[in-house]
Amino acid sequence: MADDYQFSTRIVRDTVRVDPETGAANVPVYLSSTFHQRDFDHFGKYDYTRSGNPTRDALENAIADLEGGVRGFAFASGMAAISTAFLLLSAGDHAVVPKNVYGGTFRILTEVLGRLGIDHTFVDTTRLDEVRSAIRPNTKVIYVETPSNPTLKVSDIRAIAKIAKVHRCYTFVDNTFMTPVFQRPLQLGADLVLHSATKFISGHSDVIAGLAVAGNKELADKLYFLQNALGAVLGVQDSWLLLRGLKTLDVRIKKSAASALKIASFFSDRPEVKKVFYPGLPGHPGSKIQKQQAMSGGAVLSFELENEEAAHTFVNHVSLPIFAVSLGAVESILSYPPKMSHAELSEAERIKAGIGSGLLRLSVGLEDADDLIKDFTRGLTAINEKKQETVTSVN
Ligand code: PLP
Repeated sequence: MADDYQFSTRIVRDTVRVDPETGAANVPVYLSSTFHQRDFDHFGKYDYTRSGNPTRDALENAIADLEGGVRGFAFASGMAAISTAFLLLSAGDHAVVPKNVYGGTFRILTEVLGRLGIDHTFVDTTRLDEVRSAIRPNTKVIYVETPSNPTLKVSDIRAIAKIAKVHRCYTFVDNTFMTPVFQRPLQLGADLVLHSATKFISGHSDVIAGLAVAGNKELADKLYFLQNALGAVLGVQDSWLLLRGLKTLDVRIKKSAASALKIASFFSDRPEVKKVFYPGLPGHPGSKIQKQQAMSGGAVLSFELENEEAAHTFVNHVSLPIFAVSLGAVESILSYPPKMSHAELSEAERIKAGIGSGLLRLSVGLEDADDLIKDFTRGLTAINEKKQETVTSVN
């Protein structure tokens, strides 16, 4: 039975499908928008690629198995997956959503869904009392993103899913940061899992993609209807690339997470670093829940330097990570949330969200952890030297 296999074996079994006709070891790229029907009255499994395609099917089946759901769906981006999922709601419905939800999800809720009569309340989902008191008779979804970006706050998926069940609403979880390697929300009681597959699942900064997995047939049927109706499906070649990324997900994210823990500990010991945000560190406020619901703290961490100038100096003196938005790739990616992902927040809102002017987010790649630490040591030393120069010039 496939279920008896370890996760790393299942990833390979799910993504390597020997073609019965040719013996090809990889799923063929079925670049065909339409499919010939051999019988006038009885049509085959596929008719039109928006409705279904064998390459996309292989990917959708793989992610469904890995998340432990009944059906998977591949979309043109993480936002296409999330937007389609929210359209399961109707005018007059309400969603409870984390305050620090990903900016694109915030934008869809505030600028688009509100216009369609779908209402929302933002709460701190790490606080169950806030979640409970935001629920209204018309609440249809509690949305969770854990750990959150960029301060890696942890929300208790199991407890939130329990609250949702009492109130007969769905729990949707954005599992982008953890992936099914570390966290399987459906097993914790969630109904739908969402991914920006652009990140760890692709793993190579070369595809924009989204995935969704439904935990029950009713939701799967509704989501399939919307996927086909709205049509934001993932292209065939990108589906193949994502299958290729998925094959190595287990080894990639485990190596990156082991390095992230080492780097987080390194930063914690450095006087130039005011605070480290990493749920795999014992001092992190969410570390206990993280341990209960996930197998690792993940491969993303944030750290706060003294101020913007220190962050600027650090970025200019490190050479291994690229300085960019996004995360989850083979290369380490350093980003500056105040001017990148959270640039739209006012300074006051940003500070309130715990995003100080010296905050940098690091997505740890596959470089050697000690090489990365050496590189970061250079960045921190440069901050000290610059400070010293300023003191000397003032004197
Ligand atoms: N969810 C999270 C947690 C993200 O970080 C992102 C993108 O950064 C998205 C969703 C949106 O995904 P995409 O950029 O693939 O549309």
